[in-house]
Amino acid sequence: MTKKLYDEDAYAKKFTAEVIMCEQYPAATEAAETIKYDVVLDQTLFFPEEGGQTPDKGMLGGYPVVDVQIKDGIITHTIAVPIMDGKPDSLFNAGERISGEIDWPHRFSNMQQHTGEHIFSGLVNRDYGYDNVGFHLSDSIVTMDYNGPLTEEDVRRLEWECNRVIMQQIPVKAAYPSDEELEKIDYRCKKELTGAIRIVTIGSVDACACCAPHVRNTGEVGIFKVMEVSSYKGGVRLSILCGFRALLDYRIVRSHLREISHITSAPMYETAEAVQRLKDERDAARQKAGEANRRMLSIQISALREDALSPMLFTDGVDTSSIRNAVNEMTKSHDGYCGIFNGNDKEGYSFIIGSRDLDCNDLAAFMREKFQAKCGGKAEMIQGHIDASRATIQKFIVVSHC
Ligand SMILES: [Zn+2]
Repeated sequence: MTKKLYDEDAYAKKFTAEVIMCEQYPAATEAAETIKYDVVLDQTLFFPEEGGQTPDKGMLGGYPVVDVQIKDGIITHTIAVPIMDGKPDSLFNAGERISGEIDWPHRFSNMQQHTGEHIFSGLVNRDYGYDNVGFHLSDSIVTMDYNGPLTEEDVRRLEWECNRVIMQQIPVKAAYPSDEELEKIDYRCKKELTGAIRIVTIGSVDACACCAPHVRNTGEVGIFKVMEVSSYKGGVRLSILCGFRALLDYRIVRSHLREISHITSAPMYETAEAVQRLKDERDAARQKAGEANRRMLSIQISALREDALSPMLFTDGVDTSSIRNAVNEMTKSHDGYCGIFNGNDKEGYSFIIGSRDLDCNDLAAFMREKFQAKCGGKAEMIQGHIDASRATIQKFIVVSHC
């Protein structure tokens, strides 16, 4: 079994250890730029992937650690070694001493998220009796699942309470109580673990069986923020951010909000109404323009010469059913392909093309092959979208085919 140095001191960053085993894993492909090795040590500071938490990062023997797994108490580090001079079968020899250093900002962030989760789950358990039945902590997201419903108001209250516990700077302690002591403790996550049970206690707020490193004091969580709440298997799933991650998110959100506020000339807290107003105005303007274009289109159609062959018209913002009606109208009085392209050079054109004497599928096949147009339909009428300019459409499709 690997000695877990992170268990003794969650704040230690560097260590040395004896190599027990080092082997290539798996055979590198020809194109690979690095060759991976599995390294087992007598002791380590690297926390493995366990209990829903992704593993520590860092350097071992001078090489980046890309994965850390635990099985039957043995922790295996996977390191990535650049391929330069051949591919040595063994990198480190058994018995050799090597040093390692964990990526501390990454680890500390994980500690902030994990302790934050314990505080919140402790409060949920105390106030509602729900268990945390799922936990996932990765570099991009932290989620936890509870086996009972929480309203938005419940979540807001719990979030506030959680931050109060953070500000109270309550010590966070991890210990391995004896079986006798354990019987007297009321702790969460009872069934998850076998063997020596590690209990993480946060004052009177929470006691929980857990294998992961934690901050030593709730104050170090910094801040706890719920990001999303959704229904999940009869209970709820929450995604959260703690500490620096919450600060980084706040920076991004604030800078976006400042920009929207600047664009809309509205105070930051009134930007949603301002954006809604802009959207309503845009929708109304689009509708007006579409209506005008539809009138313009019918004028264009009535102005077509009676003997015009394969007329193709361009418009923008006109609804699909008006376009279909217009194309039907055109095919009654004109031979060849009769089409309408609706759109603009920037967003491309949706189109409907019909014919009373030609097979529209031939034209569809040509447009798919030459212009990757998405289209289909019947011999009498096809419909689709093409990302090409009006000039291109006129030059290559209308002229060459019609
Ligand atoms: Zn935990």
